[in-house]
Amino acid sequence: MRTTDFHLVTRKETPQDAEIISHQLMIRTGMIRKLGAGLYTWAPLGLRVLQKVEQIIREEMNASGALEMLMPAVQPKELWEETGRIEDFGGQLLAIHDRAQRDYFFGPTHEEVITDFVRNEINSYKQLPINFYQIQTKFRDEIRPRFGVMRSREFIMKDAYSFHLTQDSLAVTYQKMHQAYTNIINRIGLEFRCVLADSGAIGGSGSQEFHVIADSGEDAIMYSDTGDYAANLEKCEAVSLLNERAAPTAALQKVATPEQKTIEAVASFLQVDKTSTVKTLLVEGTEQPVALVLRGDHTLNEVKAGNLAVVASPLRMLNEAEIKATAGCDAGSIGVKDLHCLIVVDQTVANMSDFVCGANEEGHHYTGVNWDRDATYDLVKDIRDAQVGEPSPDGVGTLQMARGIEVGHIFQLGNKYSKAMNAVVLNEQGKSQAMEMGCYGMGVTRMVAAAIEQNHDDKGIIWPANIAPFSVAILPMNYQKSQRVKQAADQLYAELTALGIEVILDDRKVRPGFMMSDFELLGIPHQVIIGDRALDNDEVEYRHRVDMQSQNISRDTIKSFLSGQIKA
Ligand code: ATP
Ligand code: MG
Repeated sequence: MRTTDFHLVTRKETPQDAEIISHQLMIRTGMIRKLGAGLYTWAPLGLRVLQKVEQIIREEMNASGALEMLMPAVQPKELWEETGRIEDFGGQLLAIHDRAQRDYFFGPTHEEVITDFVRNEINSYKQLPINFYQIQTKFRDEIRPRFGVMRSREFIMKDAYSFHLTQDSLAVTYQKMHQAYTNIINRIGLEFRCVLADSGAIGGSGSQEFHVIADSGEDAIMYSDTGDYAANLEKCEAVSLLNERAAPTAALQKVATPEQKTIEAVASFLQVDKTSTVKTLLVEGTEQPVALVLRGDHTLNEVKAGNLAVVASPLRMLNEAEIKATAGCDAGSIGVKDLHCLIVVDQTVANMSDFVCGANEEGHHYTGVNWDRDATYDLVKDIRDAQVGEPSPDGVGTLQMARGIEVGHIFQLGNKYSKAMNAVVLNEQGKSQAMEMGCYGMGVTRMVAAAIEQNHDDKGIIWPANIAPFSVAILPMNYQKSQRVKQAADQLYAELTALGIEVILDDRKVRPGFMMSDFELLGIPHQVIIGDRALDNDEVEYRHRVDMQSQNISRDTIKSFLSGQIKA
C-alpha cells in the first residue's frame, strides 16, 4: 500500500475525552472515529488490525473443533421472556420495535438465540457434543461508555456456545476453550492471566476470565506470589484473618464520639487501631434490611454481598431515612448491639473480641464489645475484598494485585438456559434430558485496545508483530525529487510485496521529521529509511519500532534480512 492510495489521517492533538492511552492513540493514528456515545467507526487502518485479531481467533476456534455460524443481531423479545433475563440485563438492553410494533432487542449476547436454534436442530445425544461460534456486533447500553472501544456500546464479540449430554463432556469442551483462548492471546502477543471469576448476569457455576495485564485495566486481579491461585477481586476469596476468637477481656462501655463520623476518626479519637473496630453497612434485603459487618480496615465486596440470598439484587445501600428507621441513628453510628435486622458478619469479624462499634445512637460508640455476651449475628459470610499481603485462599503464598483488562470470559452454564427454554435431547435410554451448556465470550474490538494499552511508548503504538496493520514501512527521504531514492523505494516495495509481506510505502510529500514521527506513532514494526546518503554506499537504514536503533544494511541483503525478521 502506498500512503497516497490509503487513508492516513494522523493527529497531533490528544482528544479531550480520551482518558486512556489506547483511546488517545487510536484517535491520533486515525484507526477509529467517534460517531456518538460508545459508537465508533473503524477506519481502514484500524480495520486491518481488527481483522487480524479476528482471523487469529477464527483459526484457533476452528482448530478447537468449534463451528462458525452467524445469528441475527436483532432478537425477538419473546425469547428473553422465556429465560426471564430482561430484568437481569436491566438498562443495558437496546429495545427496538418494527412497524407492526413487535418488540425486539439488539443482541447484547446470544444465549437465547443459540438455545432456540439448538432446540430445533438437535434432538439426539448422537449430535452432541457440539460447539457453535460467531464473530458479531453486539450492543449494550453501558451506563458509562468510556475508553473508546474498550467499553463501547456497540462492539464486536466472538461468542461460542457448546451443548452436551453430560457435565463431564461440558468440562472437556470448557478445557478446550481455555486452551484456545490461551493460544489466541499468546499468538496476538499479549501478557495475560486467567483468573477465577464471578458469573454475573450470565449465570451458571464455574467461570474464568482472561485478562490482559495493563495499569489502566478496570479490574483488579489478585494472585498468589508463589502459587497458581488467581482470581478477579470480585471473586477472590478473603480468608478469616483470625483463626479463633479470643475470650473477652474488656468491659462493655459506651463512649461519646461527638464529631467522629468515620472509622478513621473514631479509631484515632479512641486511640485504637482500625483493626479493633467494626463498621456496619445497611443494605436492602430480600425480606428485611440486612446489616453487613466488616472490620474497620476492610472494604465491602459488592459482588459477593449482592450474591447473598438474603440481600436484594442489585445491591442497594439504605438511604438516610431508611437507616434512621432501622438503626435509629445516622450512618456514622450504626453498630451491632441491639440492632434489629438480619446481621451478616465477615469471617474475620466473627472472630473478633473486645472491639469498637457504633452504639446506634448519634455521637456514641461502644468499646469492649464481644460476641454472644453483648451482641449476636445471624450469618457468617465472606463479604469483603481480599487485600494485598493476605494469605492466598488456597494456602500457597500471599496475595498480590495487578490491573487487568477483561478480554475473555468462559462459563460452564449447566442447564440454566436449556431448562428454561426446553432444549432437550433423547439420551441413550431414549429419555428426554435437558442439555448441558457452556458459553465463551471474547471481546474482539476490546482486544485491539488492550493490545495498545500493553504495547506503546511516549511516541506511539508498538504493534505486536502478528496484529500490526503493516509489517514494514518504507520511508523514502525525498521521494518526490530524488530519482534514485524513488527507484530504490519502489523496487524494495515491489520485492517485499511479491513475498507476501504487508508493506506501506510513504510516498507523501512531507518533511522527513514529520514522516518519521508519524510512523513512530503508527507503530509499524520494521521501518526502512531510504535516503541518498546511505544509497551512496548501496545501503538503506533499518530500525525496529521496539528499540528504534538504526543500523545500515546493504541493499542486496535487506530483502532477506526483513523476511528473516518477519518469519522469526
Ligand atoms: P465487563 O465486565 O467488562 O462489562 P462483561 O462481563 O459484561 O464484561 P461478557 O458478557 O462476559 O462481558 O462478554 C464477553 C466479552 O465481551 C468480555 O470479556 C469483553 O471482552 C467484551 N465486552 C463486554 N462488554 C464490552 C463493551 N461494552 N465494550 C467492548 N467489549 C466488551
Ligand atoms: Mg459488562
